[in-house]
Amino acid sequence: MDCLFCKIVRGEIPSKKIYEDEHTYAFEDIDPKAPTHVLIVPKKHIVGLKEASPEDAEIIGRCHLTAAHIGKQRGIENGYRTVLNVGPDSGQSVFHMHVHLLGGRKLTWPPG
Ligand code: AMP
Ligand code: ZN
Repeated sequence: MDCLFCKIVRGEIPSKKIYEDEHTYAFEDIDPKAPTHVLIVPKKHIVGLKEASPEDAEIIGRCHLTAAHIGKQRGIENGYRTVLNVGPDSGQSVFHMHVHLLGGRKLTWPPG
């Protein structure tokens, strides 16, 4: 499939891999907004949260559990954030669902 993150999962486009299991793949964001900025994607192509179906519930949960695993591994459990941008106004620019894991600095609230 002609999708940037599917190509990253398949290794056709290079990425700095952080973690991989049967269902999820995690890699460094190319334009980091925090000392830790990792993207976690389902290996299955899902366009976005609003396009997800009930059968995707488990994989959406798994993406978040992968984020928690990396947060623990990185020692940033004092405070990190998982973010799912949904739709153009949120800034979603890649239409293969992904969870941002941001941490390693004090995060402001609310996000912009
Ligand atoms: P979003 O704006 O939520 O769709 O997030 C897309 C993210 O993908 C942005 O934070 C980009 O910096 C990141 N990104 C785009 N292309 C690449 C790439 N080739 N490798 C790693 N991250 C990327
Ligand atoms: Zn894809």
